[in-house]
Amino acid sequence: MDQSLVVILGDQLTESISSLRQAKRASSIVFMAEVKDETTYVRHHQKKIALVLSAMRHFASLLRQAGWTVDYTRLDDPLNTGSLAGEIERTRLRHGISDIVMTEPAEYRVKQALLHIRQLEDDRFICSHAAFRQWASDRKELRMEYFYRDMRRQTGLLMNGDDPEGGKWNFDSENRKPAKSSGTMPVPPHFEPDVTTREVIQLVAKHFGSHFGDLEPFWFAVTAEQAAQALEHFLNHVLPKFGETQDAMLQDEFFLHHSLLSPYINLGLLDPLDVCLRAEDQFRQGRIPLASAEGFIRQIIGWREYIRGIYWLKMPDYAHSNALAAKRPLPDFYWSGETRMNCIAQVVKQTKQEAYAHHIQRLMITGNFALLAGIEPHAVHEWYLAVYADAYEWVELPNTVGMALHADGGLLGSKPYAASGNYINRMSDYCGKCTYNVKERTSPDACPFNALYWDFIARHKSRFARNARMAQMVRSYENFADDEKQRIAVRAETILTTLVPWQLAPAKDC
Ligand code: FAD
Ligand code: SF4
Repeated sequence: MDQSLVVILGDQLTESISSLRQAKRASSIVFMAEVKDETTYVRHHQKKIALVLSAMRHFASLLRQAGWTVDYTRLDDPLNTGSLAGEIERTRLRHGISDIVMTEPAEYRVKQALLHIRQLEDDRFICSHAAFRQWASDRKELRMEYFYRDMRRQTGLLMNGDDPEGGKWNFDSENRKPAKSSGTMPVPPHFEPDVTTREVIQLVAKHFGSHFGDLEPFWFAVTAEQAAQALEHFLNHVLPKFGETQDAMLQDEFFLHHSLLSPYINLGLLDPLDVCLRAEDQFRQGRIPLASAEGFIRQIIGWREYIRGIYWLKMPDYAHSNALAAKRPLPDFYWSGETRMNCIAQVVKQTKQEAYAHHIQRLMITGNFALLAGIEPHAVHEWYLAVYADAYEWVELPNTVGMALHADGGLLGSKPYAASGNYINRMSDYCGKCTYNVKERTSPDACPFNALYWDFIARHKSRFARNARMAQMVRSYENFADDEKQRIAVRAETILTTLVPWQLAPAKDC
């Protein structure tokens, strides 16, 4: 009987994935490998590496229990070539197999490296590449909202016949409340590391101990069963209030009413459509408000699918987008957290501890600062790709380059998500604990976001004057007296030359 090699990548940990679905257990060998290239192409957070490797080892043992033959190469195997292509070839030769099949890699870089292998569609995503290309083909503007409506129609989620449930597609306007620290926020379930995870933690400490981030305490789910428990917890304790305080940020509450499910969905431990069906069911059972169900489902079948569509539509050029000609290197405080700007210090501290920050922390604190300060998009992209447990290029890159930095010139968002300290003060409790004064614009103790915001508008005023959603801000700037404009320029220059410890990112491990 001819044998096949079924390649399973680290973010393909789904028993029903297309490559396994089409394979015959009796005549297939499942290939899995931990390779140095994938653990070091950016300096991933230590927790992220531990999560992926532990989840891979658990998945391999689940497949073996289900009757598959799994050929698994560990990172410290002395013969490990360090690359996926190298390990696949070594395994193929070892078993004398010519037929190799896989589900297509989610990232452009990996897909290109493995083009010689038969690649099946990844139907864990709801919108195929062809369907997204078709959707995009006859549109001038690729707005998420219209894509999302099509996804609602296609999946039937929260639909009443042809109409959206509740008569509206989007309940986002009900989701802009600030939050107060209550001490009673739900805490995501913590999973005690088992023997496998503890082995992986030791391995990561040995090989990647110099990478950013705290390795322990480690409490992520590492199996589909544990991820299902995390989902259950979210549905019962968090989803009822999902959305209400979605844009809020609190210094002592890292997770608020966010799901923390992205690491599990992106690895394949949870199925995105199934997660949405479960959320819809909570609404249909009368357990949660429509706005919560709609807000959550929009993030997944709307934003997540749309972001992936944009990535595959625009790669490889998208990775080099720099429409605002931003050139500065990444400040050292993105790694150290050492800055007087309390908002940034807190988000970096949380990121270091948990390999997690919620969307508004990523977008409106670290992303916003990078946008205003004109930090080079590729450096920012590499930072986001490294530091979050859910970071894979297909989802991180458009969020960073398109949404946070407006470096794609407005393909993904019609206006830049630029904000002064006023927004951060309204949506968080960071400013009350900061040594800068959020109400001041140009004094020596003024919040740096304020002068940087107006300086950013001034730098790009000819571009933004043509943007209907930014023109008002350009007019406001133009209405400032000349000496105020001058003070803004001087203060911004001072911030960018003296307050920011510009430094290139640490060198890669050899
Ligand atoms: P929730 O707030 O609970 O949202 C529910 C789910 O919706 C998430 O689990 C996620 O699957 C999906 N989702 C929500 N927003 C987005 C979005 N904009 N794009 C894609 N999916 C979304 N998300 C990643 O999964 N990986 C990344 O590497 C990543 N990098 C980002 C970088 C920047 C600069 C920004 C602004 C956003 C990034 N996001 C990324 C999107 C978003 O911030 C995370 O998906 C979210 O914070 C994950 O936390 P959560 O599971 O608690 O999300
Ligand atoms: Fe951040 Fe400015 Fe608020 Fe300080 S005052 S926390 S720098 S927004």
